[in-house]
Amino acid sequence: MQLFDVYPLYDIEPVRAQGSILWDSKGQKYIDLYGGHAVISIGHSHPLYVERITEQLQNIGFYSNSVKISSQERLAEKLGEVSGLRDYQLFLVNSGAEANENALKLASFHTGRTKIIAFTKAFHGRTSAAVAATDNPSIKAPINFDSHVQFVPFNDVEAVLAAIDTDTCAVIMEGIQGVGGIHVATEEFMRAIRTKCDETGAVFIHDSVQCGYGRSGEFFTFQHTTILPDLVTTAKGMGNGFPIGGVLISPKFQAKHGLLGTTFGGNHLASVAAGAVLDVIQEEKLIENAAQLGNYWMQELRGFSKGIREVRGQGLMIGIEFEEEVGPIRSKLLHEHHLFTGVAGKHTLRLLPSLALKKEEADIFLDALKQVLN
Ligand code: PLP
Repeated sequence: MQLFDVYPLYDIEPVRAQGSILWDSKGQKYIDLYGGHAVISIGHSHPLYVERITEQLQNIGFYSNSVKISSQERLAEKLGEVSGLRDYQLFLVNSGAEANENALKLASFHTGRTKIIAFTKAFHGRTSAAVAATDNPSIKAPINFDSHVQFVPFNDVEAVLAAIDTDTCAVIMEGIQGVGGIHVATEEFMRAIRTKCDETGAVFIHDSVQCGYGRSGEFFTFQHTTILPDLVTTAKGMGNGFPIGGVLISPKFQAKHGLLGTTFGGNHLASVAAGAVLDVIQEEKLIENAAQLGNYWMQELRGFSKGIREVRGQGLMIGIEFEEEVGPIRSKLLHEHHLFTGVAGKHTLRLLPSLALKKEEADIFLDALKQVLN
C-alpha cells in the first residue's frame, strides 16, 4: 500500500529533537522556528513531558469516556488556573477542526439558529462545519459549501456590525489569522463583535487553535483586552505534539448527557501530556518568554533595511511579508542555514517556534535572513 499523496514533502527526515533543535537522518542539525505548524509549545521532547507520558503508558494508556479519568479533571483545573478562565467548562477533543466543529454545533444547539459569520482568509479546519467557515474554496468538497456561512472582511467593524443580526447563531474568528498570513484582530473589531453578539443573542467563538496557549504573550489573544468570548477553541500547542484539542465553554452553556461525545477525546495519555505542557508553561514562565522574545524579534526585523514589506504578529506568532516571493527565501533558510520556517500565501514567512525559544536561536535567524536578503 502507498500513502495517499496529499502532502508536498521536503526530502528531510527529522529523527531526533530536543528543545528547538532537530537532527535529521543524516545527522544534520536544524533550528525549528515553525514547531510543526505551531504545535511544539514547550520544546521537543521536554524531559517532564516524556516522563509523564511514559509513566502514564506504563499504568494505563486508554479507556473511553465511560469511566472516571482523573487526569482530565486535573487538566481542566490547571487550564482554568493558567488561562484565568476558571469558571469555563472544558470539552476535550483530538484536533483543532474537531474543536471548532463542536463549538459551532454547541452554538447552534444553544441558539437554535443556523447563520454563521466567518471572515475573509479565515482557516478553521477541514471537517464539515469548520471547513464551511474556512475561506478557501479549494479545500471544500461540494458537500461542504454551506449556505449558512456569510464571509465578512476581517477587521472591518462596520461590515461585521451590519452582518450580525437576530438570526445569527455564531461569529467565529481567529485572534490572529495564521494560515491567512498573520493578521492580528484589532481590539475595536473584537469589541464590536462582543457587543453585537450580546444584543442579538449570537455566540462569540474565538478560534485560538493556532494563536492560543501562550503564543501571543498572553494565554489567549483576547486577554490582551478585557473582552471574553463565549466559546474558545484550542489544539496545536495544547499537547506539544500529542493530539488533543478542547472547547472552553462559558458558564451560560448547560451540559446535557449525550449532547457532545468522542471516543478518543481526553484519553489518559492526551490528558497527562496536556497537563505536563501547562506545568512547564507555568514553571518555566514561557508566556513571558514568548512576549519578550517576540517583541525583540519584531523590533529587529522592523529595522531591516532591505526586502521586507511588513512585519506582523504578537509574541512568537510572527509574519514577515517580503517584497519578493517567499518560496526561494524559505528554501535558502532551510537548505543553506538549516532553519525550519513556514509560509502563508506567496509573500509571507511564518515564524511559530516553541515558546521556549532562546535569544541565541532567534539571533541566528536574524543573521541568516540578513544574508539571504543580501
Ligand atoms: N483553526 C486554526 C486557526 C488553525 O490554524 C488550524 C490548523 O492549522 C485549525 C483550526 C485546524 O486544526 P487541525 O489541523 O488540528 O484540525
